Amino acid sequence: MNVHESEKIAGILTSRGYMLSQTVEEADVIVLNTCCVRETAETKVYGHLGRIKSKKKQGAVIVVCGCMTQQNGAAERLVKRCPFVNIVIGTFNQPRLGDYLDRFIQTGTRVIEVWSSEKDGDSLESASPVRSSGINAWVNIMYGCNNFCTYCIVPYVRGRERCRPIDDIISDVDSLLKKGYKQITLLGQNVNSYKYLDKTFPDLLKSLESDTKYRLKFMTSHPKDISPDIAQIIYDSKVLSRSLHLPVQAGSDRILQAMNRHYTREEYLSKISAFRSLIPDIGLSSDVMVGFPTETEEDFLQTLDLVERVKYNNLFMFIYSRRSGTPADTMPQLDYDTKQKRIDRLIKFQFEISKQLALSSVGHTAEVLVSDKDGDKCYGKSETDAAITFNSDSAKVGDFVRVKIVSAKNANLTGEVI
Ligand code: SAH
Ligand code: SF4
Repeated sequence: MNVHESEKIAGILTSRGYMLSQTVEEADVIVLNTCCVRETAETKVYGHLGRIKSKKKQGAVIVVCGCMTQQNGAAERLVKRCPFVNIVIGTFNQPRLGDYLDRFIQTGTRVIEVWSSEKDGDSLESASPVRSSGINAWVNIMYGCNNFCTYCIVPYVRGRERCRPIDDIISDVDSLLKKGYKQITLLGQNVNSYKYLDKTFPDLLKSLESDTKYRLKFMTSHPKDISPDIAQIIYDSKVLSRSLHLPVQAGSDRILQAMNRHYTREEYLSKISAFRSLIPDIGLSSDVMVGFPTETEEDFLQTLDLVERVKYNNLFMFIYSRRSGTPADTMPQLDYDTKQKRIDRLIKFQFEISKQLALSSVGHTAEVLVSDKDGDKCYGKSETDAAITFNSDSAKVGDFVRVKIVSAKNANLTGEVI
């Protein structure tokens, strides 16, 4: 989501005559797009700002935007701690970045505009993004979130759910395919709750079927809202990736309830089974958190057990991070050591699973969409979202190439062109 917003910010600036620069040293304007989902992201911002300060040329304007500025007290801290930052804005103010820059350049007065009307953020849509993700184009289908998981800051900084008109999404995808993009990733915090007039997410997916060869992905799905229809739609589709990112967060019912996730481990596992029984080789990935307030050893073992049962191809693992203003911040917290030990155990555990899954795919064939090439070495992802490397002189970035998987080293797969 943030990568795509950075593309839109670049779009706003280029439409005003700015050009992308390759280095901090030569830039006249430096924009830091921040995130506050986890504390680590926030800490990194200060590190980056320190480095930028020493490298930037005299008079370069520094802008800090993104959701970190909207967190309780974060903008005030930033303004005090970093007097060399010239413009501080929130996500809803981003569409007006060009005007703020003009204002700062004309008056020399710092611009601090963190909250404006919620709707304004959506007009970033009118900015034509400077896309930077190669063969992939991101397309927002909705903004905000209504779920209020107790650990999460997103609903506070991104506002309530707002869905884009289905026709706008379809025409965006159409024109991106005409421009030659080979992969489209639909974005939303909870894509399964997409609704525009009488159109739902399954309707949207069906209307993006095409005779043009491309790959369609979406993120993120919420286990409480994903319907079995989606499995059938993936099964029937010519364009959808045979993969699903379905964040579980925790494997213990008690913790899931404390997180306000609205599903049990059994409900989650039965949804996974429904997808697997229709699409046995579906690539599954998830987000998992350890060290949520009050998590016991028993709760953590339940998470390991769920991870073992599902056998995810890819797992994004996080230590719970306190976010001021969220309900979980006021719950009894775990100590740092316990959280650190649990994440280490989980990472090792998943590493073995990924290794086994990779080994078991040797001998299978896959269709790789080439996303990068270095010499004759091609990199890309299969239709089930596995990363595969292979050698080819003739394959180009953006090609779909059939390969046979010939070896696996840890989770890394090597293929040979068929
Ligand atoms: N809307 C998506 C993802 C939102 S944020 C969803 O519901 O799945 C991406 C991931 O960051 C989450 O899935 C969660 O695992 C993690 N995350 C969110 N808040 C966090 C926090 N306070 N501490 C640690 N991880 C967090
Ligand atoms: Fe955060 Fe939950 Fe919304 Fe995802 S669904 S953005 S985790 S509140």
